[in-house]
Amino acid sequence: MKLVEVLENLSNANGVTGREEQVRELMRQYLKPYVDEIREDRLGNLIAFKRGKKDAPTVMLAAHMDEIGLMVKNIKKRGFLQFTKIGGIDDRILLAQKVVVHTDKGPLTGVVGSKPVHIQTDEERKKVINADKLFIDVGARDREEAEKMGVQVGDVVSFDTKFARLGDSVVFGKAFDDRVGCAILVETMRRLQKVDCNVYAVGTIQEEVGLRGATIAAFQVEPDVGIALDSTVAGDTPGVAEGEAPAKMGEGPVLTVADAGLIAHPKVLRLLMDSAKENKIPYQLETGIRGSTDAARIALSREGVPSGVISVPARYIHSPAAIVDLDDVEKAVRLAVAMVEKVPEIF
Ligand SMILES: [Zn+2]
Repeated sequence: MKLVEVLENLSNANGVTGREEQVRELMRQYLKPYVDEIREDRLGNLIAFKRGKKDAPTVMLAAHMDEIGLMVKNIKKRGFLQFTKIGGIDDRILLAQKVVVHTDKGPLTGVVGSKPVHIQTDEERKKVINADKLFIDVGARDREEAEKMGVQVGDVVSFDTKFARLGDSVVFGKAFDDRVGCAILVETMRRLQKVDCNVYAVGTIQEEVGLRGATIAAFQVEPDVGIALDSTVAGDTPGVAEGEAPAKMGEGPVLTVADAGLIAHPKVLRLLMDSAKENKIPYQLETGIRGSTDAARIALSREGVPSGVISVPARYIHSPAAIVDLDDVEKAVRLAVAMVEKVPEIF
């Protein structure tokens, strides 16, 4: 399967934090042919292993399987669903979104309700409506009907966005954070056929609420080097000031120098930059972004693991639909492969 098809299927799959099973099953299918072992750990991380030479270093590549979303908090008497946010979501992007409520009886289509412009006061038009004032309408007449449709407190809600190609290499879809990383992970393992080091390819859970899956995965895997494969903010759109977000779409994978949770280990950063240069892969350096990646937790596992991040710039990240350039994704794969091959020279 082509990289773009893997990304499409992963993007269309639903895996709001804590409910990653659809994504995990896809990842299991995709990774299985290229690894020696594959298992799910106690909390739901998918841990695949490709054995290398004896006494060779061990690399952990991690991509998180979860996506931001919502969770039903209360069913109102008249059938509207109040919700809470899972992960970092800007309240301003929620209004009028089409969503899918995942119930035990199956998925339900819904919309985040909004007050029509005709009846808004001038004051109301200027204000951002907080998420706790918003509600999802699944078409239920009242609470009983919503319950009959299968809705219960705790159901997760994802954005209803279908993957699409926008041009030769630009694609559009939901959950690119971090299905892009998941797709890079699969393709990297496919291309890593003869490699000296041991490689763990890990699909992690619950990244968006505090890097939780990576914490326990790294403990199990005990890597010598940790690399998170993720997406990052593309700062090349109108309204973003110069220097606010340095990465630009289409200019290659991004290497984190430092973020809110990690200072990339100098040896790992060097390894990544050298691998890129030797293979003529353009890259971008990033620092000062709020938030972090799984690498922050891998780095602090046990007695410490030198770690770094390869990410792909995504426009409109953490919104119902992001945009990435497949060319950046391809280059991120090439960099990940080159880096893994070079690890034994340095670690
Ligand atoms: Zn992410």
